Amino acid sequence: MSDNVQKERYITPIAIGFMTTIVPDFLKEAFDAYHKRDFTRDYWQVSSWEQWYGGAGVALTVSAIEANRNRFFYMKLKDKTPSRDVCQDIVGVLSHLNEFPANTLVALISEVFTVRNVILHSHIYEIDAEFTLADWEMIDLKRTKLAGYGNSKFENLVDSNSLKTKLLGMNVLPARIGFEELFTALLVFDLIVGIIQKIHGKGYFLYRIHQELDSNWVNNLCELLTYYFDQIPSNSFKTHTKSLASEFGSTFRSFLGDEERYFITNTCPKCGSLGFHKWWHLSHCTSCNATIRVQR
Ligand SMILES: [Zn+2]
Repeated sequence: MSDNVQKERYITPIAIGFMTTIVPDFLKEAFDAYHKRDFTRDYWQVSSWEQWYGGAGVALTVSAIEANRNRFFYMKLKDKTPSRDVCQDIVGVLSHLNEFPANTLVALISEVFTVRNVILHSHIYEIDAEFTLADWEMIDLKRTKLAGYGNSKFENLVDSNSLKTKLLGMNVLPARIGFEELFTALLVFDLIVGIIQKIHGKGYFLYRIHQELDSNWVNNLCELLTYYFDQIPSNSFKTHTKSLASEFGSTFRSFLGDEERYFITNTCPKCGSLGFHKWWHLSHCTSCNATIRVQR
Protein backbone atom coordinates (compact mmCIF):
# COMPACT_ATOMS: atom_id res chain seq x y z
CA MET A 1 0.00 0.00 0.00
CA SER A 2 2.76 2.45 0.98
CA ASP A 3 4.36 1.96 -2.45
CA ASN A 4 1.39 3.78 -3.92
CA VAL A 5 1.72 6.80 -1.69
CA GLN A 6 3.76 9.83 -2.63
CA LYS A 7 4.45 12.17 0.28
CA GLU A 8 5.52 15.71 -0.45
CA ARG A 9 6.01 18.81 1.65
CA TYR A 10 5.44 22.31 0.33
CA ILE A 11 6.02 25.78 1.68
CA THR A 12 3.86 28.69 0.64
CA PRO A 13 5.65 31.99 0.06
CA ILE A 14 3.31 32.97 -2.78
CA ALA A 15 4.35 36.63 -2.78
CA ILE A 16 7.61 35.70 -4.52
CA GLY A 17 5.45 35.22 -7.61
CA PHE A 18 4.38 38.88 -7.55
CA MET A 19 7.69 39.68 -9.24
CA THR A 20 6.97 37.40 -12.21
CA THR A 21 4.44 39.44 -14.15
CA ILE A 22 2.43 41.64 -11.77
CA VAL A 23 5.16 44.02 -10.61
CA PRO A 24 6.74 44.38 -14.10
CA ASP A 25 3.26 45.06 -15.52
CA PHE A 26 2.62 47.66 -12.81
CA LEU A 27 6.01 49.26 -13.54
CA LYS A 28 5.02 49.53 -17.19
CA GLU A 29 1.62 51.07 -16.38
CA ALA A 30 3.20 53.51 -13.92
CA PHE A 31 5.85 54.46 -16.48
CA ASP A 32 3.28 55.09 -19.22
CA ALA A 33 1.58 57.66 -16.95
CA TYR A 34 4.90 59.03 -15.64
CA HIS A 35 6.16 59.56 -19.17
CA LYS A 36 3.22 61.90 -19.88
CA ARG A 37 4.03 64.27 -17.00
CA ASP A 38 5.16 67.79 -17.81
CA PHE A 39 8.47 67.91 -15.95
CA THR A 40 8.80 71.67 -16.42
CA ARG A 41 5.97 72.21 -13.92
CA ASP A 42 5.74 71.65 -10.18
CA TYR A 43 3.05 69.26 -9.04
CA TRP A 44 1.92 68.31 -5.56
CA GLN A 45 0.61 64.98 -6.82
CA VAL A 46 1.16 62.53 -9.65
CA SER A 47 -1.73 61.15 -11.70
CA SER A 48 -4.07 58.66 -10.05
CA TRP A 49 -3.04 56.02 -12.59
CA GLU A 50 0.61 56.44 -11.65
CA GLN A 51 -0.23 56.45 -7.92
CA TRP A 52 -2.23 53.23 -8.16
CA TYR A 53 0.25 51.23 -10.21
CA GLY A 54 3.36 52.68 -8.59
CA GLY A 55 1.99 52.33 -5.05
CA ALA A 56 0.65 48.81 -5.55
CA GLY A 57 3.95 47.84 -7.17
CA VAL A 58 5.92 49.06 -4.13
CA ALA A 59 3.59 47.17 -1.76
CA LEU A 60 3.93 43.94 -3.75
CA THR A 61 7.70 44.33 -4.07
CA VAL A 62 7.98 44.57 -0.28
CA SER A 63 5.76 41.49 0.05
CA ALA A 64 8.15 39.64 -2.26
CA ILE A 65 11.09 40.71 -0.08
CA GLU A 66 9.30 39.39 3.02
CA ALA A 67 8.35 36.14 1.27
CA ASN A 68 11.99 35.64 0.33
CA ARG A 69 13.11 36.31 3.92
CA ASN A 70 10.68 33.65 5.16
CA ARG A 71 11.74 31.17 2.49
CA PHE A 72 15.41 31.83 3.25
CA PHE A 73 14.83 31.11 6.95
CA TYR A 74 13.02 27.89 6.09
CA MET A 75 15.80 26.68 3.80
CA LYS A 76 18.89 27.84 5.68
CA LEU A 77 17.93 28.68 9.25
CA LYS A 78 15.35 26.14 10.31
CA ASP A 79 16.33 26.45 13.95
CA LYS A 80 15.54 30.17 13.91
CA THR A 81 12.15 31.82 13.90
CA PRO A 82 11.84 34.89 11.69
CA SER A 83 11.51 38.05 13.76
CA ARG A 84 9.03 40.87 13.27
CA ASP A 85 11.84 42.96 11.79
CA VAL A 86 12.31 41.74 8.22
CA CYS A 87 15.06 44.27 7.45
CA GLN A 88 17.21 43.21 10.41
CA ASP A 89 16.69 39.54 9.55
CA ILE A 90 17.87 39.98 5.97
CA VAL A 91 20.94 41.90 7.01
CA GLY A 92 21.51 39.57 10.00
CA VAL A 93 22.35 36.67 7.69
CA LEU A 94 25.16 38.79 6.22
CA SER A 95 26.54 40.35 9.38
CA HIS A 96 29.35 37.76 9.71
CA LEU A 97 31.02 39.33 6.68
CA ASN A 98 34.07 41.45 7.22
CA GLU A 99 33.36 45.17 6.98
CA PHE A 100 29.88 44.58 5.63
CA PRO A 101 28.00 47.92 5.60
CA ALA A 102 25.11 46.43 7.57
CA ASN A 103 23.71 49.70 8.87
CA THR A 104 23.48 51.15 5.36
CA LEU A 105 21.66 48.10 4.01
CA VAL A 106 19.24 48.08 6.97
CA ALA A 107 18.49 51.75 6.32
CA LEU A 108 17.92 51.22 2.59
CA ILE A 109 15.54 48.30 3.09
CA SER A 110 13.81 50.12 5.97
CA GLU A 111 13.13 53.12 3.73
CA VAL A 112 11.41 50.90 1.16
CA PHE A 113 9.35 49.28 3.94
CA THR A 114 8.44 52.74 5.25
CA VAL A 115 7.01 53.76 1.88
CA ARG A 116 5.09 50.46 1.80
CA ASN A 117 3.66 51.33 5.25
CA VAL A 118 2.58 54.76 4.02
CA ILE A 119 0.66 53.06 1.21
CA LEU A 120 -0.86 50.11 3.05
CA HIS A 121 -1.64 51.98 6.28
CA SER A 122 -3.07 54.88 4.26
CA HIS A 123 -1.26 57.81 5.82
CA ILE A 124 -3.48 60.85 5.66
CA TYR A 125 -2.16 64.35 4.90
CA GLU A 126 -4.06 67.60 4.63
CA ILE A 127 -2.93 69.46 1.53
CA ASP A 128 -3.54 73.19 1.15
CA ALA A 129 -2.52 74.36 -2.30
CA GLU A 130 -2.80 77.76 -3.98
CA PHE A 131 -2.69 78.23 -7.74
CA THR A 132 -2.82 81.20 -10.09
CA LEU A 133 -6.10 81.10 -12.00
CA ALA A 134 -4.43 82.23 -15.24
CA ASP A 135 -2.24 79.17 -15.78
CA TRP A 136 -2.68 76.99 -12.68
CA GLU A 137 0.89 77.65 -11.59
CA MET A 138 1.28 76.53 -7.97
CA ILE A 139 2.22 79.41 -5.68
CA ASP A 140 1.86 77.88 -2.23
CA LEU A 141 1.61 74.39 -0.77
CA LYS A 142 1.17 73.21 2.81
CA ARG A 143 1.27 69.53 3.67
CA THR A 144 0.29 68.37 7.14
CA LYS A 145 0.47 64.74 8.22
CA LEU A 146 -2.35 64.01 10.63
CA ALA A 147 -1.58 62.72 14.12
CA GLY A 148 -1.42 58.95 14.46
CA TYR A 149 0.32 58.24 11.15
CA GLY A 150 3.98 57.21 11.16
CA ASN A 151 6.03 56.02 14.15
CA SER A 152 9.46 57.07 15.43
CA LYS A 153 11.14 54.89 12.78
CA PHE A 154 9.26 56.84 10.11
CA GLU A 155 10.42 60.14 11.62
CA ASN A 156 14.05 58.92 11.65
CA LEU A 157 14.05 57.75 8.04
CA VAL A 158 12.15 60.63 6.47
CA ASP A 159 13.21 64.24 5.88
CA SER A 160 10.29 66.22 7.27
CA ASN A 161 10.81 69.16 4.88
CA SER A 162 11.08 67.32 1.57
CA LEU A 163 8.82 64.44 2.71
CA LYS A 164 11.29 62.06 1.10
CA THR A 165 13.28 59.23 2.65
CA LYS A 166 16.77 60.39 3.55
CA LEU A 167 18.96 57.97 1.57
CA LEU A 168 16.83 56.84 -1.36
CA GLY A 169 14.79 60.02 -1.81
CA MET A 170 11.49 58.13 -2.06
CA ASN A 171 8.39 60.28 -1.63
CA VAL A 172 6.26 59.55 1.43
CA LEU A 173 3.54 62.02 0.53
CA PRO A 174 1.03 59.42 -0.69
CA ALA A 175 -0.16 61.47 -3.65
CA ARG A 176 3.40 61.73 -4.97
CA ILE A 177 4.17 58.00 -4.85
CA GLY A 178 4.47 56.64 -8.37
CA PHE A 179 6.91 55.29 -10.94
CA GLU A 180 10.03 56.72 -9.27
CA GLU A 181 9.23 55.01 -5.95
CA LEU A 182 8.59 51.66 -7.62
CA PHE A 183 11.77 51.94 -9.69
CA THR A 184 13.79 52.69 -6.54
CA ALA A 185 12.17 49.84 -4.57
CA LEU A 186 13.15 47.44 -7.38
CA LEU A 187 16.68 48.81 -7.37
CA VAL A 188 16.92 47.86 -3.67
CA PHE A 189 15.37 44.43 -4.36
CA ASP A 190 18.02 43.87 -7.05
CA LEU A 191 20.74 44.90 -4.58
CA ILE A 192 19.51 42.40 -1.96
CA VAL A 193 19.39 39.62 -4.58
CA GLY A 194 22.97 40.40 -5.63
CA ILE A 195 24.34 40.33 -2.09
CA ILE A 196 22.48 37.14 -1.03
CA GLN A 197 23.52 35.38 -4.28
CA LYS A 198 27.18 36.21 -3.72
CA ILE A 199 27.21 35.11 -0.09
CA HIS A 200 24.78 32.19 0.00
CA GLY A 201 24.52 31.12 -3.66
CA LYS A 202 21.66 31.13 -6.12
CA GLY A 203 18.17 30.01 -5.19
CA TYR A 204 17.98 31.52 -1.71
CA PHE A 205 16.60 34.91 -2.69
CA LEU A 206 14.47 34.20 -5.65
CA TYR A 207 12.47 35.93 -8.33
CA ARG A 208 11.60 35.31 -11.93
CA ILE A 209 10.41 37.82 -14.47
CA HIS A 210 8.26 36.87 -17.39
CA GLN A 211 7.94 39.94 -19.57
CA GLU A 212 8.60 40.91 -23.16
CA LEU A 213 9.66 44.48 -23.89
CA ASP A 214 10.37 45.67 -27.44
CA SER A 215 10.58 42.05 -28.67
CA ASN A 216 13.16 41.09 -26.03
CA TRP A 217 12.50 38.83 -23.06
CA VAL A 218 13.65 40.27 -19.77
CA ASN A 219 16.02 37.93 -17.91
CA ASN A 220 16.56 39.81 -14.68
CA LEU A 221 15.81 42.99 -12.75
CA CYS A 222 18.93 44.69 -14.08
CA GLU A 223 17.62 44.47 -17.65
CA LEU A 224 14.14 45.59 -16.59
CA LEU A 225 15.45 48.62 -14.71
CA THR A 226 17.94 49.52 -17.45
CA TYR A 227 15.14 49.45 -20.05
CA TYR A 228 13.21 52.13 -18.12
CA PHE A 229 16.31 54.00 -16.95
CA ASP A 230 17.21 54.68 -20.59
CA GLN A 231 13.80 56.28 -21.15
CA ILE A 232 13.42 58.31 -17.95
CA PRO A 233 12.20 61.73 -19.08
CA SER A 234 13.01 63.56 -15.84
CA ASN A 235 16.56 64.94 -15.71
CA SER A 236 16.42 65.26 -11.96
CA PHE A 237 15.34 61.64 -11.39
CA LYS A 238 17.91 60.38 -13.86
CA THR A 239 20.66 62.32 -12.08
CA HIS A 240 19.36 61.14 -8.72
CA THR A 241 19.39 57.49 -9.88
CA LYS A 242 22.94 57.85 -11.20
CA SER A 243 24.12 59.24 -7.88
CA LEU A 244 22.35 56.43 -5.95
CA ALA A 245 24.02 53.85 -8.20
CA SER A 246 27.39 55.51 -7.84
CA GLU A 247 27.18 55.79 -4.05
CA PHE A 248 25.73 52.36 -3.30
CA GLY A 249 27.60 50.71 -6.16
CA SER A 250 30.90 51.60 -4.51
CA THR A 251 29.58 50.69 -1.05
CA PHE A 252 28.36 47.23 -2.05
CA ARG A 253 30.37 46.33 -5.16
CA SER A 254 32.65 43.85 -3.39
CA PHE A 255 29.59 42.10 -1.90
CA LEU A 256 27.81 41.59 -5.23
CA GLY A 257 28.17 38.49 -7.43
CA ASP A 258 30.57 38.79 -10.36
CA GLU A 259 28.85 36.62 -12.91
CA GLU A 260 25.45 38.27 -12.60
CA ARG A 261 24.58 41.78 -13.59
CA TYR A 262 23.04 44.18 -11.08
CA PHE A 263 21.61 47.58 -11.86
CA ILE A 264 23.79 49.72 -9.60
CA THR A 265 27.00 48.21 -10.96
CA ASN A 266 25.83 47.94 -14.58
CA THR A 267 28.36 50.47 -15.86
CA CYS A 268 30.24 50.89 -19.12
CA PRO A 269 33.74 49.38 -18.92
CA LYS A 270 35.06 52.21 -21.11
CA CYS A 271 33.57 55.38 -19.58
CA GLY A 272 31.73 54.21 -16.45
CA SER A 273 28.26 55.43 -17.51
CA LEU A 274 25.30 53.60 -15.97
CA GLY A 275 23.10 51.25 -18.03
CA PHE A 276 25.63 49.40 -20.20
CA HIS A 277 24.16 45.88 -20.33
CA LYS A 278 20.76 46.02 -22.06
CA TRP A 279 19.78 42.47 -23.03
CA TRP A 280 21.49 39.10 -22.99
CA HIS A 281 22.68 39.72 -26.56
CA LEU A 282 23.43 43.43 -26.37
CA SER A 283 25.47 45.80 -24.23
CA HIS A 284 25.61 49.40 -25.40
CA CYS A 285 26.75 52.65 -23.82
CA THR A 286 24.61 55.64 -24.78
CA SER A 287 27.39 58.01 -23.64
CA CYS A 288 30.51 56.71 -25.46
CA ASN A 289 28.89 54.24 -27.90
CA ALA A 290 30.90 51.22 -26.68
CA THR A 291 28.99 48.13 -27.84
CA ILE A 292 29.18 44.38 -27.30
CA ARG A 293 26.88 42.14 -29.33
CA VAL A 294 26.37 38.41 -29.00
CA GLN A 295 25.19 36.57 -32.12
CA ARG A 296 21.55 35.62 -31.62
ZN1 LIG B 1 30.69 54.32 -22.18
